Amino acid sequence: MSQFTIPKTMKAAVVDSTESPLEIREVPVPSPESLAPGECLVKLDCTGVCHTDLHAAKGDWPIPAKTPLIGGHEGVGIVVAIGAHTQDSPVQLGDRVGIKWLADSCLDCELCRKGLEQSCSKAKCSGFSVDGTFSQYVLSWVRHVTPIPENMDSAEAASILCAGITAYRAIKYSRSNVGDWICLPGAGGGLGHLAVQYASAMGLRVLAIDTGAQKKALALRLGAEAWIDFKESKDLVGDIKRATGGAGPHTAVITAATSAAYAQAVDYLRPGGKLMVVGLPARASLNADIFFTVVKSISILGSYVGNRQDAREALDLAARGKVKCFFELKPLSALKETYEGLEKGTVVGRVVLDMKN
Ligand code: NAD
Ligand code: ZN
Repeated sequence: MSQFTIPKTMKAAVVDSTESPLEIREVPVPSPESLAPGECLVKLDCTGVCHTDLHAAKGDWPIPAKTPLIGGHEGVGIVVAIGAHTQDSPVQLGDRVGIKWLADSCLDCELCRKGLEQSCSKAKCSGFSVDGTFSQYVLSWVRHVTPIPENMDSAEAASILCAGITAYRAIKYSRSNVGDWICLPGAGGGLGHLAVQYASAMGLRVLAIDTGAQKKALALRLGAEAWIDFKESKDLVGDIKRATGGAGPHTAVITAATSAAYAQAVDYLRPGGKLMVVGLPARASLNADIFFTVVKSISILGSYVGNRQDAREALDLAARGKVKCFFELKPLSALKETYEGLEKGTVVGRVVLDMKN
């Protein structure tokens, strides 16, 4: 039972179908009595806006999101109710926790046991297969919410929960070595600007690729050693090779939401290079040249958010000041214009929505 006063309705951003516009309206708050064992209710302070939310709202992917959909999967808030008969909850009432993309998984299948819980067949995804954080309260699962380090502001922590975890895991699993060159197309966006910092913190040399003066200034300030504007470059492969000492980068982590950003990766990576597939453009496939993938011994690896351990590690680096989200705080009513900005590529870093009022 809850010691908190929980209203019957809340403000939420709802998408009724991929054809209908986003609408901010009052919807019921899940009642504490309706929570099953293992479920909890979180009152949100804030939530980041990920490009994934826009893909989900538009129906860009082969698997459709639920409808009506409340998107959002970078939420931070307080646990205000826990389902009756929940055993051994790792979080308690009043704890500040994060809601990430992976809201729940069985934790018992082979994938979960091996730490690939994101790919569990019973996975529930916030703001996709279950309602997410573009609402003042969200139902989640005690085993998967992430404790937020005490010294972190909610708004600072929010985007670590998807953008940070995803960027961190992709770099970690690329098995790059200290001193390697890493190329980051998408470096001025939500995932990318955090990838610049995680890569620098992990001892890598960063070549940032994106467009515009603001994203350039941000990437260089956050630790990138070199920068290429993809809209200005006349010879992207040549420019990337020159910027990384001639041979090309050891690793590329693609966080752009366009397939163009993948097009030449196999050409510019050095032999033995690793291509980390992260950005999820609509209806896209990878067109890697098979001959050069083979003779250059290129590894192509998909990287999907991160597991609970990746979440702790990504947050820990941020809590220790190694990584800082660059964001603009806006009200929930700014979600529509934020989607327009993501579509046009004008969002620098992240937009975080204040959910308190
Ligand atoms: P964002 O819009 O904030 O950032 C994308 C950036 O890519 C922008 O700055 C844009 O200018 C840049 N860009 C566009 N075309 C480019 C090109 N040809 N070369 C270089 N840069 C280019 O988006 P985001 O929130 O960072 O998300 C990025 C993508 O990652 C989305 O497709 C999202 O769905 C996906 N994503 C994947 C995972 C995962 O688990 N793999 C997790 C979260 C997000
Ligand atoms: Zn996301």
